[in-house]
Amino acid sequence: MKKVYIETYGCQMNEYDSEIIRSILIANDYEFTQSESEADVVIFNTCSVRENAHEKMYGRLGEVKHVKAANKKVVVGLLGCMAQNLRGNLKTQEKLVDIFAGPDSYKHLPDMIQSVLETGQKTYNFSLSEYEDYSDVYPRRIPGINAWLAVMRGCDNFCTFCVVPYTRGRERSRSPQSVISEVEKLAEEGFKQVTLLGQNVNSYRFDNKDFADLMLMVSEVDGIERIRFTSPHPKDFPEKLLRGMAENPNICKHVHLPLQSGNNRILDLMGRNYTRKDYLRLVENIRKTIPEAALTTDIVVGFSSETEDEFEDSYQVMKDVQFDSAFIFKYSERKNTIAVRKYPDDVPPDKKTARIVRLNELQKNNSLLKNKEAIGKTYQVLVESTSKKKPDEWMGRTDSNKIVIFQKGQFKAGDLIQVKINKVSANTLFGTVIKNN
Ligand code: SAM
Ligand code: SF4
Repeated sequence: MKKVYIETYGCQMNEYDSEIIRSILIANDYEFTQSESEADVVIFNTCSVRENAHEKMYGRLGEVKHVKAANKKVVVGLLGCMAQNLRGNLKTQEKLVDIFAGPDSYKHLPDMIQSVLETGQKTYNFSLSEYEDYSDVYPRRIPGINAWLAVMRGCDNFCTFCVVPYTRGRERSRSPQSVISEVEKLAEEGFKQVTLLGQNVNSYRFDNKDFADLMLMVSEVDGIERIRFTSPHPKDFPEKLLRGMAENPNICKHVHLPLQSGNNRILDLMGRNYTRKDYLRLVENIRKTIPEAALTTDIVVGFSSETEDEFEDSYQVMKDVQFDSAFIFKYSERKNTIAVRKYPDDVPPDKKTARIVRLNELQKNNSLLKNKEAIGKTYQVLVESTSKKKPDEWMGRTDSNKIVIFQKGQFKAGDLIQVKINKVSANTLFGTVIKNN
């Protein structure tokens, strides 16, 4: 049996895709190894969303030179969004890579590997499909507590800064039946939480079912304690989904709602189809309907022509909303996007850095303030894994997705327990177990 080593970069969708790749290759008599040096096939499932994802990958490919020098027969595959975006147009590291495969071509991987082994020639597959959703492939997950599950693929929004519509193609949704049968299997396998994935989950549509209908169907599957989803787009967050979240205890009270910018001119240039007012109104509605909901976001600083005053609008929205946490990025131009063609990347790097530093400081304070509200309160926590810092402590999460650290005691991963919080940092809650649920 040939051995495969895989490394995954980027978003949760890529984690899920790597599980699909594992499943496809195992069905074709490959086995997986944790050791790159003993592998016959080395695969990188890559990301393309920001410039530093590419830089990181070029660095990693530089290291693989040594693996290939030690074993000339090793097959190297560059898969996913970066492969699709560059279409084989790598820099000097190109010589190393034998297989280039975009996100819709994983069913061809066994043939592609075989072809490289037989001919020594590079192979490419960048076809994007209007239909491929891999719903006939049951992903080979590493056993654990949470399972990722893509309910739709691709994106039709074409936000001007974003490469995803070009690397992942057109939007397509899986049938509710295929989602539910996968969730049922997950429950049988012992997963306690499922996170439904899509670039814009609210665009989910299959026959007459929308995303809110799908969430409600998933929430009825026995054995799954918690259901999460990411990401909704602020332009179309349905009231029905919000009510479903409020009324169903197993749908987690956490909304990741990417803001991107707090300034209307920039939102318009980004092609986001909502205004600052729309966004704030939605936040108000979420908080009115589900007061305990945690809110997190993504923000881009230094998009084309963003002035200091326009940046201040993002700062102000962040200050007013007080997100529980936020991913803050410097804008970087991506090949093929609308922005690359229409809007120059003209905010100087030092200004982008100064802006990101300010937002990170503000968010750190906000996260700490939000977490301090938890002191003295008791939360239901799903036990996940041993804490990275101390082997005698567990790491678990609240319904609102906050990390909680506590002494191990009698519990095991997958247990739902009550933890009283007595100390917090900006990123973590620390507590004492009150009782086993
Ligand atoms: N579909 C999600 C949405 O619409 O909000 C976002 C998916 S994208 C893969 C993840 C995040 O990366 C975006 O929310 C955005 O903040 C960031 N991002 C995307 N393109 C970027 C770029 N060119 N430069 C910097 N950040 C970018
Ligand atoms: Fe990219 Fe916009 Fe689609 Fe999100 S909604 S994946 S930011 S194009």
